[in-house]
Amino acid sequence: MRCQAAGCAADLGRAKHYHRRHRVCDFHSKAAAVIVSGCGGGAEQRFCQQCSRFHQLSEFDGEKRSCRRRLADHNRRRRKSQPGPSSEEGKPDSPAADACLENRTS
Ligand SMILES: [Zn+2]
Ligand SMILES: [Zn+2]
Repeated sequence: MRCQAAGCAADLGRAKHYHRRHRVCDFHSKAAAVIVSGCGGGAEQRFCQQCSRFHQLSEFDGEKRSCRRRLADHNRRRRKSQPGPSSEEGKPDSPAADACLENRTS
């Protein structure tokens, strides 16, 4: 089994389970920019440690190894987990999508 990085000769047969599972060698799982063979058309990507897969570099902030979306998710969940009085109000959810559909029919 070979690493997904183009031209990488690392043999994952003796790599850690994590690296075999995601088909990336230790070096490329930490590299700032990797050319992934196959899909992606040779664009530089980076291995996301949160999603355990490669993303385009544009998905990352600076040198971070977690994509922006995951970091945003993380922050949002943190804020939500804080105890607040809003949960007792029991506001009915009114999804905006329904309103959009109604507008389209008129
Ligand atoms: Zn590699
Ligand atoms: Zn990610």
